[in-house]
Amino acid sequence: MREPFNITNMVRAGLDKLIPYDAHSYPGIIKMDANENPYPFPEEVSRSIGQLAAGDLLSRYPDSEAVELRRAIAEYAGVTPEQVMVGNGSDELILNILLTFGTGGRVLITNPTFSMYKIHSLVAGARPIPVPRRGDFSVDVPALVCYARQPDARVIFICTPNNPTGNASTLEEIESVLQQVNCLVVADQAYLEFGGADCVSLLNRYPNLIIIRTFSKAFALAGLRVGYILANPDVLRQIKKVKQPFNLNSFSQAAARVVLAYRDVFNKQIRDILQQREELWQGLQNIEGVTPYPSVANFILFRTNYESKAIHRGLLEKGILIRRLGGPELPGFLRVSVGTPEENKLFLQALAEVLQEVGRDAK
Ligand SMILES: *Cc1c(COP(=O)(O)O)cnc(C)c1O
Repeated sequence: MREPFNITNMVRAGLDKLIPYDAHSYPGIIKMDANENPYPFPEEVSRSIGQLAAGDLLSRYPDSEAVELRRAIAEYAGVTPEQVMVGNGSDELILNILLTFGTGGRVLITNPTFSMYKIHSLVAGARPIPVPRRGDFSVDVPALVCYARQPDARVIFICTPNNPTGNASTLEEIESVLQQVNCLVVADQAYLEFGGADCVSLLNRYPNLIIIRTFSKAFALAGLRVGYILANPDVLRQIKKVKQPFNLNSFSQAAARVVLAYRDVFNKQIRDILQQREELWQGLQNIEGVTPYPSVANFILFRTNYESKAIHRGLLEKGILIRRLGGPELPGFLRVSVGTPEENKLFLQALAEVLQEVGRDAK
């Protein structure tokens, strides 16, 4: 007789530490948790994108090289098409970078930061090593360089502007890391359209720099999953070995080109979001017991004196979803995405009420 079949014995080593990513959905909620563009999708852009579903766009396999989209991105970002690779969201590209360079090695992650670097490191069979940021959330460059000189250090992730803290690294800091290490340095610039220094000017001088960007935030295409890498063609040739040939579907490729063609419409929205960010920050600052942190992105990190879980739950009960952080790195912290003026107002009102309620319960 064989032993009873046990699926956990079959799962490869390393996956035991992973919990499946669960992005909860709450129908009808005011969504301020995922840093999406809060405005209704511009109608004229929507109409143009709708017309794409004609001819053989849907029935044929997509262009695996995404030639047209890469050309458009290159023009937008100020690089050559050979320096561009597109992906099914930057999430896929993060995984592909780690599958190419990370497996079996160490990945240095400047915490607190975007959670996917650690998750994809584990998925790729790499070892995530946290290199904590300083108290002001700036990158601890000497510590990073020290860790990067250990054997098997392969990839460094620096998110700038950083999610969830909202601050950006300077070009000097990024360059200082690039000059002192021999591994790949990934600058995740998902929020570049909102602020922070553009790392593109460093690309031609540092063959180990990889920049990640996305259409999910400023360009309002989170649902279509379009991300891209800007890097040296030699780096991209290696990543291409693990990339799924048809990773980015044809509709998304075409839609992203339309969005870039309507750049002005989104630039106007970006300006509005920046203005709203300042008002939201001031609104948070005006609530007693709330400490907001400066942000150059489209979200704000803040802290209260209560458990972030209670604040998060209280807001949810009032129909508003934000991101709860907490844990040993960010105890009592939460992150709110900049919404429309109306959403921001509702959020600030609800937060003030929740703080009173939680304060009462705590007495
Ligand atoms: C949102 C986000 C991304 C991801 O985006 P995709 O939707 O997968 O392109 C990447 N990096 C950071 C830091 C983000 O916050």
